[in-house]
Amino acid sequence: KETREKYVTGDRLGEGTYAVVYSGHFRSDPARLVAIKKIKVQQEWKDGIPMDAIREIKFLQELEHPNIIKLYDVYSTKDQNISLVLEHLPLGDLEGLWKNKEISYTSADIKSWSNMLAQAIWWCHEHFVLHRDIKGNNLLIAADGTVKLADFGLARSFADAGRPMTHVVITRFYRPPELLYGARHYSGKVDIWSVGCVIAELAIRRFFLTGDSDLGQLAVICEHFGTPTEETWPGVSKLEYYIKPSEQQSWQGNGTAPRKGYPSSWWKAAFPLLGDDGIDLLRAMLTPDPNKRLSAKQVLDHPYWTNAPRPTKKENLPKQG
Ligand code: ADP
Repeated sequence: KETREKYVTGDRLGEGTYAVVYSGHFRSDPARLVAIKKIKVQQEWKDGIPMDAIREIKFLQELEHPNIIKLYDVYSTKDQNISLVLEHLPLGDLEGLWKNKEISYTSADIKSWSNMLAQAIWWCHEHFVLHRDIKGNNLLIAADGTVKLADFGLARSFADAGRPMTHVVITRFYRPPELLYGARHYSGKVDIWSVGCVIAELAIRRFFLTGDSDLGQLAVICEHFGTPTEETWPGVSKLEYYIKPSEQQSWQGNGTAPRKGYPSSWWKAAFPLLGDDGIDLLRAMLTPDPNKRLSAKQVLDHPYWTNAPRPTKKENLPKQG
């Protein structure tokens, strides 16, 4: 029997950049809901679906973890389209949550959501999978409050099909400095930076590092963390788009000298909901030199998670809708 016949497609839930999402259910059990993501056919796919996209899907299918969206099946349709059958996650996403002014939440809630995200990324990296597009609206929420990482590597496979290790991955606000400087050999540390940005925005309820262009994004990063130099980040000056501190005046404007970064007092004032240990973790995740940035394992070993307050149990987390 054909895979697609195992599922019944229902209402259209929404549309993203590379896919249209429908609700659906198992034909054998109408109570078992799914989301069916139908990938839009792209012009440049003359010979059908790119091979690396298929490999990426296979990979996802093998990643099983409570904080990672489950991919039940993949099938193609007569019109050359492919559909992904995914776990149904009806309670929106983390970005929707911090944007929703009717929901108030606490330090313990932030710790709970952040920990689920940290577990997900640790699992990916343990299995040599880079996500490369972590952001609030790729963190979906299950009916029981569990946060699940979605939209895996698919962003690259489908949106930039066929292009190799490009540095133009990751939505700008979540992009680490090594990618902005044009690094082509990068690691799981790119995801750690993005996770730090998501934790920061949960805490302040707005986007954190918001550049209006790639150079603007680097300027914002330098403003917060200091302008990287060979002393603070060995090797940085070899990156393709590195700008020497002496040449930065022109792009940072106003004759500003190279940045020193904000002092501890600024971080304390900006992130009252994270506490000293949370700020220490955040700054260790948002370290410009990827070699000094924490790994996913080191993130999970940080005392923030076990210090007071204890993370909220998922059944007690505030929910939308
Ligand atoms: P975007 O994230 O750009 O909105 P997506 O293609 O990821 O695009 O999703 C489009 C919409 O479909 C989302 O806004 C969401 O409402 C819905 N959706 C996506 N995935 C799921 C899912 N697993 N379960 C339930 N609804 C989903």
